[in-house]
Amino acid sequence: PPLLRIKDVRLEYTTKTKTVVAIDNISIDVPDNQFAVIVGPSGCGKSSLLYLVAGLNEPTSGEILLGNEEIDGPGPDRGMVFQSYTLFPWLTVRENVEFGLKRRHVPAAEREDIVNRYLNETGLAAFHDAYPKQLSGGMMQRVAIARALANDPKILLMDEPFGALDSQTRNSMQKLLLRVWEQHKKTVLFVTHDIDEAILLGDRIYVMTARPGRLKEEVVVPIARP
Ligand code: ADP
Ligand code: ADP
Repeated sequence: PPLLRIKDVRLEYTTKTKTVVAIDNISIDVPDNQFAVIVGPSGCGKSSLLYLVAGLNEPTSGEILLGNEEIDGPGPDRGMVFQSYTLFPWLTVRENVEFGLKRRHVPAAEREDIVNRYLNETGLAAFHDAYPKQLSGGMMQRVAIARALANDPKILLMDEPFGALDSQTRNSMQKLLLRVWEQHKKTVLFVTHDIDEAILLGDRIYVMTARPGRLKEEVVVPIARP
């Protein structure tokens, strides 16, 4: 069975004056170890869909299963990386990456091994004592990726993680992400409006139509990445 199963999901937002259909009946199955990308124009419901998988919101109808269990609120089995940097500003790079491990009471020696591994893989070793405000956007996203992976989630959820970066930094972050992904083959669900980014990163690309978000096309990329 697929690791992630999104089944007939519909999402409406109701405000005082109107109801907006953000997602109009989407079904997506993501097998394990895949790099899945959802691409579509701004406002088509990509972030909304990711939020549902994250458990930060509930679908109006339909269901979402992760490893056969229905999603019920946020949990450590899903690692999140958002566009806006969501690091803890009062913690160092190392402490940010260590945060989830501490919460799960992983013993100190093991924590240090895990944290060092991810700091090295993301090129952060020299910055381990820095605070987020001392870092560039690209470096902050490295911390966010390392922090998400250190918790060994079943799936990594990424919402336009490189959307706020200049194009050169974005390119190097895309390469870094692919490198790290090759190491771990962690299932990824990655949201972007940038078709080039989708093609570069995705094993599977799910194309959404403009609002209300529907699935237009599902592309299984047949060629190996560079
Ligand atoms: P995307 O990520 O593809 O840009 P979003 O998921 O952010 O799209 O938004 C999908 C649609 O739902 C948009 O029309 C947006 O304005 C609307 N929307 C998103 N969040 C809310 C909300 N909390 N309340 C009302 N409408 C919302
Ligand atoms: P993105 O395209 O990166 O998802 P947005 O600007 O669409 O960013 O949304 C930013 C935040 O505002 C999200 O939390 C979203 O849920 C909320 N939001 C978006 N559109 C609306 C809306 N029409 N009404 C209320 N909240 C909204």
